[in-house]
Amino acid sequence: MMVPKRADSGLEMSIVNRMPGFDPDVRRTIVVIDQSSRTRAQIVAALAPVHDILEAKDGLDGIALVAERQPDLILLDLRLADGSGLELCRSLKADLRTRKIPIIIATTADEQIHEVEGLQVGAVDFVTHPIDPAILRLRVRNQLALKYYRDVLERLSVVDGLTGAANRRQFDTILDREWRRAKRLGKPVSLIMFDVDHFKKFNDHYGHLKGDDCLQRLAHLLEAMIHRPGDSAARYGGEEFAIILPETENTGAAIVAERVRQGVELLDIPHEASSVAKHVTISVGVATVVPSGEDLPETLVKLADQRLYEAKRAGRNCTR
Ligand code: GH3
Ligand code: MG
Ligand code: MG
Repeated sequence: MMVPKRADSGLEMSIVNRMPGFDPDVRRTIVVIDQSSRTRAQIVAALAPVHDILEAKDGLDGIALVAERQPDLILLDLRLADGSGLELCRSLKADLRTRKIPIIIATTADEQIHEVEGLQVGAVDFVTHPIDPAILRLRVRNQLALKYYRDVLERLSVVDGLTGAANRRQFDTILDREWRRAKRLGKPVSLIMFDVDHFKKFNDHYGHLKGDDCLQRLAHLLEAMIHRPGDSAARYGGEEFAIILPETENTGAAIVAERVRQGVELLDIPHEASSVAKHVTISVGVATVVPSGEDLPETLVKLADQRLYEAKRAGRNCTR
């Protein structure tokens, strides 16, 4: 008999459930950059029943509109009054804020040479004048679907499937970034790590599904408690979570840590098998470093982990 893999299969189900497939009828935002008001009107007529269309008549307006509205797709005409559409495409693709937005380029039949250049600068598809509404709608739909699934994959790669918290990979990325920033600025970074007390007994007593529920509730609590811009919480692994607090001294971090520990107590999740309390508790370690020289971010993780171990040794349900 096939025994389903417990944590993994549960994990995948829960995240897939929260991410339905691409729905072509959901309204999305499209920016049209075209100097011809007639062409813009044709495009609006073809797409507006399904999508929200924002119009720009030149590159300058277009860039501003795209940066502000972060559309799902850009339709770009090559012949812009204030410069080449290719140049605009190149700069949109070079900008971190806009590079992920797919660009469909509109050309005339005699501009096929531009298709090569367009692909080189990052356009994903083309439509030719005179614009055929049915073809335009289909090409737009295809690119919106691809973008949707790219976004889903990107999200899956940084989010923990069970709890929706940032995953270990994302934790590593953020810690690395904050570590380098702190080093540059000569500022401290604090790290809080906590671990559920007697969680094995919890699983043994209540079953793994209840264990999963418990981890989800802890993640939601973290999400609600960690809201200063720059602070981030992650599921470090198993029943261990971490909170990165940039530009935070140890005293400040200890206050946050203690607030989280008390928050978990207030959730009052029954844990009859625990020798610490009648409800679920956590042990918390806090460490702070001003990065310098060749220090690596792992230094901070090791320190926080040591403190967490001390909290366990001191009897659990406490902060060290
Ligand atoms: P301590 O107080 O010393 O931390 O004891 P503990 O029992 O929590 O520590 P231990 O490391 O022995 O056990 C961790 C348990 O966490 C064992 C494992 O099955 C459980 N666990 C890890 N990940 C998951 C998960 O995703 N879901 C569930 N339900 N349990 C998990
Ligand atoms: Mg553990
Ligand atoms: Mg534990």
